[in-house]
Amino acid sequence: MSQPESPLLANAAVMEAVSRQNYPVATLYVVATPIGNVCDISLRALHLLSLADAVACEDTRNTAQLMTRYGLHKPLLAAHQHNEREVADKIIARLQAGERIALVSDAGTPGVSDPGAKIVDAVRLAGLQVSPLPGASAAISALSASGLIHDQFYFVGFLPSKAGQRDTLLQSLTAQAATLIFYEAPHRIVDSTLAMLAAFGPERQVVFARELTKLFEEIHRCTLAEAAAWLSADTHREKGEYVVLIQAAPSAVADDQPEARRILSILLKECSVKQAASLAAQITGQKKNTLYQLALELKDDDPDEDTDQ
Ligand code: SAM
Repeated sequence: MSQPESPLLANAAVMEAVSRQNYPVATLYVVATPIGNVCDISLRALHLLSLADAVACEDTRNTAQLMTRYGLHKPLLAAHQHNEREVADKIIARLQAGERIALVSDAGTPGVSDPGAKIVDAVRLAGLQVSPLPGASAAISALSASGLIHDQFYFVGFLPSKAGQRDTLLQSLTAQAATLIFYEAPHRIVDSTLAMLAAFGPERQVVFARELTKLFEEIHRCTLAEAAAWLSADTHREKGEYVVLIQAAPSAVADDQPEARRILSILLKECSVKQAASLAAQITGQKKNTLYQLALELKDDDPDEDTDQ
């Protein structure tokens, strides 16, 4: 049975719109590539890769595979963590000669726990243009599907491999009033989770975002006390790629704001969370977003409250 034609890709107007955009020469394009599902690449990214004079990439085999998948064949320049400075000089010379160069990493957004930042820095210092072609990043994808509500997040990336340094870093993060985002390798996921339990305590919520966009994607939320049991419940969880998110410090705000708590508690008896936060912001002069978060927590704690109005 033949596959139905995709209305989007069959739509010449879409490709026409993409190709009519401006892609100046003498520019380095920082191109995000998929983090698992090969289709997670933007139309602009594909078009730019077709225009580029060369593609600087972390692993040429990996990038060749992606390019071939889309019928693209371009000269590839190896640009990994050990040669970023040297390859930057070559890229600068090519840009000065009027080329368009694309910069990609193995997966996701270059420069995010991946090589790329030093090349971008050198190109900018040379007075040349750098332009991002946005797309997938494991951190933002995981955050968007985590359900952890907070208006701030703090990207930590990989923890240090030495236990002492890891624990010191975790300790320094315990009071952060922001959702914490970590990258972790599967062979360290259990150890790191136990270290997080020791640092943040058993009540703190954790989200494991595993194998995002892939066939066996899992997103699981529980307390840190429950985390080890979830990890050991299925041997597949010793493998795969992980983003780990930790809930913001519980009311770093609320604990030293008894007055805000008192006002919100009264308002919540009469109004919705949104209205209560808005009125409390007017009364106390504090930030509405902070009070909204506190109001949500108070509402969760109140056994008489079932639903928001
Ligand atoms: N530059 C990438 C980005 O923008 O997300 C990150 C590269 S970093 C070397 C690789 C780490 O990202 C993995 O060890 C894992 O922690 C996380 N990661 C990448 N792809 C993932 C996926 N599909 N699901 C979950 N985590 C992923």
